[in-house]
Amino acid sequence: MTQAQDEAKSVPGSAGLPSLKRRHWFGLAAAGPAAGSALLSAAGPAAARTKTQAHVVIAGSGLGGIAVAHRLQALLDGVKITIVDAKEEHNYQPGYTLVASGVWPVAKVRERNAQLQPEGVQWVKEMVAGFDPEGRAVITASGRRIGYDFLVVATGVHLDYAQIEGMDVQAIGREGLASVYPGPQAATATWEAMQAFVAKGGQALMTLPATPLKCAGAPLKMTFMLRDRLAQAGTLERSRVQFMSALGNVFGVKAVNDNVLARWQDLGIAVETTQKLTAIDIGRRLATFTSPEGEKSERPYDFVHVVPPMRAPDAVKASALAWQQGPFAAGGWLEVDKGTLQHRRYANVFGVGDINGTPRGKTAATVKKSAPVVAGNLAAVIAGQAPPLDFDGYTSCPMITREGSALLIEFDYEGRLTPSLPFIEPLQDSWFAWLMKVRMLKPAYMAVLKGRV
Ligand SMILES: Cc1cc2nc3c(=O)[nH]c(=O)nc-3n(C[C@H](O)[C@H](O)[C@H](O)COP(=O)(O)OP(=O)(O)OC[C@H]3O[C@@H](n4cnc5c(N)ncnc54)[C@H](O)[C@@H]3O)c2cc1C
Repeated sequence: MTQAQDEAKSVPGSAGLPSLKRRHWFGLAAAGPAAGSALLSAAGPAAARTKTQAHVVIAGSGLGGIAVAHRLQALLDGVKITIVDAKEEHNYQPGYTLVASGVWPVAKVRERNAQLQPEGVQWVKEMVAGFDPEGRAVITASGRRIGYDFLVVATGVHLDYAQIEGMDVQAIGREGLASVYPGPQAATATWEAMQAFVAKGGQALMTLPATPLKCAGAPLKMTFMLRDRLAQAGTLERSRVQFMSALGNVFGVKAVNDNVLARWQDLGIAVETTQKLTAIDIGRRLATFTSPEGEKSERPYDFVHVVPPMRAPDAVKASALAWQQGPFAAGGWLEVDKGTLQHRRYANVFGVGDINGTPRGKTAATVKKSAPVVAGNLAAVIAGQAPPLDFDGYTSCPMITREGSALLIEFDYEGRLTPSLPFIEPLQDSWFAWLMKVRMLKPAYMAVLKGRV
């Protein structure tokens, strides 16, 4: 295969755009959203729109759902799209760690889905309560049955705080309890808890479950930033920051894991790698961890950052669409082919984003690279062809190491580092990487959302 053919296969409508395949999340961020728009207008899919009367239902109106909706509209003439999701606010989740560590105001992570969905789609403001892939229908929370010809599952993950006995999401921000994951309010409350802790110092516990996570770097970023805020406040010497992982390590990509552990050793952050947070007594500031052998230990804390176990939302997990066996069955993740992102048993179903039961890839950057694959393959299937595009598992995580510095980490399904900017060393922190995280990634996210890059 020639380079041009290879690149055309990576993104539909991109033949003749020589650098598109290599410029992943960061490369396009650096070029800015305007560059993304230019790509669409120069060789966009509008030139080769397939005529269809197909009805596509998209379950989920997050990054993946909206990005695919925009792309399908550009690829297909006459397609009817229905988005099903009760959530009206759209959150820029990669900004949560910045809000929770006092870098950004919360307003920067709040958008409205009504302004982001493409014109002409029907929006059913309800959750999907059940999937009936045999009957080609979804069932909403009110019991409404919506039939489809094709389905895109884009529901993201379920944060399973219920697995931690005593955990109360409403209490985040009080009694030293922090957790960045649930939403903008929790991110703000986490920053309040962090500020109160940092003023005095003390014992901090940072947790990590063993399930697949969206942005597996976020718990690490929070740890780096907490340590940095302690140093800035002059309370580091009376503090102890301890990272409690249930994963056996702290990050799934070995090179990154080793790099972070070496940094933490220098920074004095203690690590235990076989401790699962199983219970928390918020009033007494006491966390219970369980070892693989079932041994329980109680640890007092002044500040705790809780990362919940994650799994598929109930509607997917309980459906025939979930993996029935293998490593992704326990979490109920969507059974897709990791290359084409087409469902392995229902050819008219595709998955995009965090819901996919694939080896890695639960980041916005993954959606940037996989939404064109999903839309392109679905359009081909609608046209009666086999899915032509393959996804390589591209995942990226800008790992904040302190205020003003970050690592740009990009990798694929195999855990190989796949840097897209030749002048940036992935395991070397830099101010440039920090600048990308703080200034450039939100515009890039918005361009992905609108199907422009
Ligand atoms: C703290 C944090 C930090 C992050 N940092 C980064 C980062 O630095 N870089 C990066 O690339 N990514 C980062 N991410 C990850 C990124 O935000 C997600 O990977 C991305 O949003 C995934 O898109 P999605 O469409 O799959 O899911 P989401 O954007 O989460 O959207 C899922 C949608 O599905 C809806 N839904 C759920 N259940 C149902 C149902 N039953 N019926 C209908 N709709 C349903 C939800 O309401 C939601 O609107 C971070 C995430 C978090 C939480």
